[in-house]
Amino acid sequence: MGRLVIVSNRVADPRKTAAGGLAVALADVLNRTGGLWFGWSGRITEHEAGAAPPDGPVHRQQAGPVTLATVDLARADHDAYYLGYANGVLWPVFHYRLDLANFDAGFIAGYRRVNRMLAQRLLPLLQPDDVIWIHDYHLIPMAAELRALGCTQRIGFFLHIPLPPPLILAAIPAHDWLVRALFEHDLVGFQSEADLAHFSRYVETELGAEPAGPGRWRLGERTVRAGTFPIGIDVDEFAALTHAPEARDMYTRMREEYSRRRLLIGVDRLDYSKGLPQRLRAFRELLLRHPDTRNSATLIQIASPSRESVLAYNDILREMETLCGAINGDFGELDWMPVRYIHRTVARKRLPGLYRAGRVALVTPLRDGMNLVAKEFVAAQDPADPGVLVLSRFAGAAEQLREAILVNPYDIEATAQAIQAALQMPVQERRARHQALLAGIRRQDVRWWCDTFLGALSSAPR
Ligand code: ADP
Repeated sequence: MGRLVIVSNRVADPRKTAAGGLAVALADVLNRTGGLWFGWSGRITEHEAGAAPPDGPVHRQQAGPVTLATVDLARADHDAYYLGYANGVLWPVFHYRLDLANFDAGFIAGYRRVNRMLAQRLLPLLQPDDVIWIHDYHLIPMAAELRALGCTQRIGFFLHIPLPPPLILAAIPAHDWLVRALFEHDLVGFQSEADLAHFSRYVETELGAEPAGPGRWRLGERTVRAGTFPIGIDVDEFAALTHAPEARDMYTRMREEYSRRRLLIGVDRLDYSKGLPQRLRAFRELLLRHPDTRNSATLIQIASPSRESVLAYNDILREMETLCGAINGDFGELDWMPVRYIHRTVARKRLPGLYRAGRVALVTPLRDGMNLVAKEFVAAQDPADPGVLVLSRFAGAAEQLREAILVNPYDIEATAQAIQAALQMPVQERRARHQALLAGIRRQDVRWWCDTFLGALSSAPR
């Protein structure tokens, strides 16, 4: 295989431990193979929209075997492309939330402009035998822009978030332009079978594409291959992290603080897709229905600040503060508070210790492409005395993690019952479920994800 070129909205130094799931996975790939990582620098400047910043169009930096090449964005470009279209249209609609989308015509223009600009800046950096791997919803039309400039290299695309059913997708103005652009790739990867089924139905019914063999569709001159490649984590590295000093310290402190109580944990970005209010309501229902849990179970909910400049995120912030306050006010005792809500990021090195101290993890998104927290929780457990995973059936991870307790997060009573079952689960059953879950995340780990995708990309017929 030729040199690997990864393109994603954000670029992180692979020598440092990054926060997001995508950044961690990509850093792992590139550290092994070397190559080029291209994307936005994270800097916003006041230069004119669409123009190159005054100090040069592309910043380059060498990070071990990886060249990082980044571009700054003009404020108007950033606001329309990133805040407006990617996170104000594509994120809500792809998570089935048409009610939260803002279809401002200026946003899509900015999205096209930035994708074209990124293609123009990347083109001169490319070598003839490069294999290009573009990531996620920010960059759906970038391959089409590269092709229009004459790029003939192999290009793969991976969508980290869900793809909704055709009639939800069809609510986006210019949806056909968006999905047509996917045909400019040699391979398109999705997280789950459900996403792939939506793609197949959409391209056949909305675009009139013809099936061209298993996992292949033809549209005019172009044929695209599409498949399912559920992203994983580095299980051994994560398990090893639980024994590092920071995680052990966290674990010991949690165990001491909660020696008489059972700890439930939730770790998320504060995002409306994560089902946080529903989770809090299910926990309140548990306290109501099962008085034995009062004074004996505590929920620690960490919700890291996220996309605070996007309007829809203010509502969820307020709702969480109100709900947590109400539960603590209604059920709290002088020596016990049912919910500890922490609106901050936990240092990555301490996170495994928190997971390991949890008797139950609540991973209950209303919709999620994959959800890596579920896999991290499993990897961090003590196999002799493991915690229980309560997982939304609407997370991509639910297609793989069948031995979790699967719930419908909209059904508050059923979720409360599931939490109670998780708290009561005997150790033999906890061990058996954990063993099966661990074997699954080991089999399809981040390396498997990367190797399988890149293997399919380099062998895709052209
Ligand atoms: P998303 O990509 O939508 O945020 P994922 O669960 O797939 O959801 O990935 C989230 C990643 O970010 C995981 O690696 C998780 O450990 C990390 N993370 C999420 N929330 C927090 C938090 N509050 N503090 C620290 N790390 C977090």
